[in-house]
This record gives sequence, C-alpha cells and structure tokens, in this order.
Amino acid sequence: MLSFDMATNQRREQLVNSHSGSAGVYHRYHIETRSAPNLYPSPSRFLVKVGKVGLAKLIVTELVHYRNWKVVQSRPCLYGVFSGPVGGFAPRPKYCVGCLRCTTQFPDFVKVLKNPERQKLGDSFISPDQVDTILYETSTGTVPVRGAGYRGKFGGKGWDGMWTDMSEIVRPTRDGIHGREYISTEVDIGDKPMSLSFDAQGNPSGELPRAFPIGVPMIFDVPPASVQTQQYFSILQSAASHVQTLVVVPIKPMLAYELPSVSVVPLVSPTEQSELKRLSISPALIEMASWDKRLLDAIHEIHPKSLVALRMEYGEDLLKYIDSGIKNFHLVANYHGMTRDGRFVLDAIRDVHDSLVKAGVREEVTLIGSGGVAAAEHVPKAIICGVDAVALDVPLLIALQAKLHGDCVNISSQVELPQNLPSEWATQRIKNLASSWRDQLLEILGAMGMREVRRLRGEIGRAMFQTQLEHEAFAGIEGYHG
Ligand code: SF4
Repeated sequence: MLSFDMATNQRREQLVNSHSGSAGVYHRYHIETRSAPNLYPSPSRFLVKVGKVGLAKLIVTELVHYRNWKVVQSRPCLYGVFSGPVGGFAPRPKYCVGCLRCTTQFPDFVKVLKNPERQKLGDSFISPDQVDTILYETSTGTVPVRGAGYRGKFGGKGWDGMWTDMSEIVRPTRDGIHGREYISTEVDIGDKPMSLSFDAQGNPSGELPRAFPIGVPMIFDVPPASVQTQQYFSILQSAASHVQTLVVVPIKPMLAYELPSVSVVPLVSPTEQSELKRLSISPALIEMASWDKRLLDAIHEIHPKSLVALRMEYGEDLLKYIDSGIKNFHLVANYHGMTRDGRFVLDAIRDVHDSLVKAGVREEVTLIGSGGVAAAEHVPKAIICGVDAVALDVPLLIALQAKLHGDCVNISSQVELPQNLPSEWATQRIKNLASSWRDQLLEILGAMGMREVRRLRGEIGRAMFQTQLEHEAFAGIEGYHG
C-alpha cells in the first residue's frame, strides 16, 4: 500500500522483520506451527458404562463363534473403546465418538452417556464443542476436519444466523491454503485519506496515508483482570510479535513489566496521560480508553509519529470523533458479543459500517471489533459485516486451558490460568491458534475467489442472513412471527 510517511514505513518494516529477521528480502507470510499438546487431558465427550455380566456372556458366545481373541476383544466398538488390555471391562471413553452402535446392538448392558464434566467446559456463550475445537486447533495448528459431514444446526442466534456464500460456480476458487496461489491476509491499521493530491512538481501535498499492515486481521485484546500477569502479557506480546500483529495492554502494566515493543498497543485513560512520557519508544498505535481532547493532544505532542485509536462501545456516533481527527476505532462489546443496548455484535458492526458508508468516510477509517469472536468462522463473518480486524479475548485463554469460573463476560470475570504455565508452550499454542484460524480464513477467501482479505470487508453480498431469508420466504404467512 502507499505510504509516504517515513516513520510509518519504519514501523511497517519493524513489524514485518520482527518475524523474518531480514530486511529487503521477500518474505512470504507464514506462521510457524508446532505440536503443543494439552497440558492436562480434556474430559471425554461420552461416558461408556458396561454391565460386566452381560459383557462376559457376550465374550463367551463370540469366542465360541469367532475363535479369535482379537476380534472378540474389539467388539462391539470399531473405535477401540473396548480394545484395552482387559477389553470392555475397562472401557476407554476417550476413543468414543458417540456412534451409538454398541448401545443399539446391546442395549441391555451398554450405555453411552454425555460426560457431565465436559458440559462444564466453556460458558454460556462458548460451547463445549467450541472449546474442544479450540483445543484441537491450538494443539496442532491445523484445521479440524470432520469427515462425516456437518451434523449441527443450520441456523440459530448470533453468528449462527449468518451464512457465507461461496457460489463457486460463478466465482472460480483460488488455492490459498495449500500455497499455490498467494492470498493475502494483511490488513492496514491507520489513517487513510480518500484521495491523494500532488503539487505542480508532482510531489504529494495535503494529507498522506499513515498506516501499517498486520499479518492477520486479528489482534489480541486486554484480558480479564484476574489474568493480567506479567507472564501472560509477555506470552501475548511474544505471540503477537511472531504473528506480526498487535496486543492491547493497559499502559501501567506495560511500563511495569517493561513490555514496550512494536507489537504492543498501550491503552491509556485520560487520568494516565502522564505515563505517556515514560514510554521508551513511540508505539505504532496508542489506544485511548475513552475520548478526551487533552489526552489526544498529549499523545500528538509526546508521540507525534504514533497512530491513535479510540476505544469505545458500539452504538456511539463515530462521525463527531472522525471530525476531531480520530481515524482508528476499537469498538467494544462484552466477551459474549453483546453491546450495551443488548444487541449482538453482528448487527452492531453492520450498523456502524453502513453509517460510515453513507457518510462517505468508510475508506478513511479503520475499525477493529472486540467481543463475541469464539471460533475461526466468526472472523470472516465479522469482516463481512464491516470491521477491518477483530480483537481476540477468551479464545486465547481457552487455548491455554484456562478455567472459566462462571460466565466469562467482561474484564472482571474470574479466570484461572494453569499453574506453572510454560511460556514457550503457551506462546506456541497462541501461534497455532492464529495459524489455524488464518488457514480457515484462507479456505473461505479461496472458495470465494478472493485474493486478499481487505476485499472481504463489508462484502455483504457474500453472506446470507437467516432472519432476512425467513422474512422473504414466510412474511405474510399465518404463524410466522419474524
Ligand atoms: S458409541 Fe460407538 S464409539 Fe462409543 S463406545 Fe459405542 S460403539 Fe464405540
């Protein structure tokens, strides 16, 4: 992208080279993944209860019939639940996929039950299945594949009420995930004027773009207070640096833990203005915790080369802040994606994007959206609705097998990270998550025939909305209450 500002260019290079370690050499974006298995086992999906008398009778009958211990021992499960050293007398529920063959064939002595411990994973927003998926993605860095097809619902609340439209017949696909065609997942954070002007000598005049790219349209957001430790911030900072993205850290812990780095975005409230002078480097981006003209002036004065973002709740009018010179917004909902006025982020993002399009300023503004992103598919959905990038919160904690005590809904939620958390393992898990979600984004972009994620922003034509489709199909029919 065009950038005439030397400092912005330098930051761009710093961000890009922080991973590659070499300037001026073509570097194809890549997140290094490595196996990082769970620290402790996750509860199995099912409990398998076997009546010992019934099983003994079955074994005797089948021994007579098959005369082959291996065959008998593996019965009645093809997945190995009954294939341990003592067969079904000590079933291995971790292998159970819930096909229900055993309980259908031998209802008298086999029962397959949902594991109540697994039902406790996640909270009222992040389901046990989503937790399992995140754990798989972070353990392996790969894309989960479910060979038997999708067995879930085809609609629902929140993101489940939105479907992406691949329409491969009219738009040839691109092979992004396997690397034969490069699809860019870079997005630009910064101030982007609608047009450039040049003087008679051809030199640029007027406002110039001031932006830098991040490798993926995902940054890391401020975690709940109970896990704002030096170690967790260092892990996030290290992972952000590898992934070439950003992590938002309140300025006091950032200074206390000596975190300044090109990947760290200090979050500054109006009462913390004096802390700005203590930063040893000018950050690429500084985030204002709320609007305050004096704070904005102080940032411009102390760190003139830093870009400024305003953190604010969804629902406020952005135009007045744009008039005051703010071009970057970090819009915040709670961790469950609910805005202050009780709407889900999907609708809130669409509203804010549409209002900026109507005002003719959308291209000048960068929107980052926080809250409600709990699965890989939510990233492209949020971008289609209109944000440039999303900020991740709870999935990063789940990646590290943190325990959520009750609903993890906002910054005061109680969360517990594993004791003696190995930093290298934790950093790798977050890198794996970023890589897996990026690969899934590439799948969607490839299926849509898109070369870069920037073009996905606000592309509402690539999506369908359940409420809208139902309204089109059923409005006016008795019994429909859409
Ligand atoms: S439900 Fe299927 S996978 Fe689970 S134990 Fe029974 S046969 Fe095996």
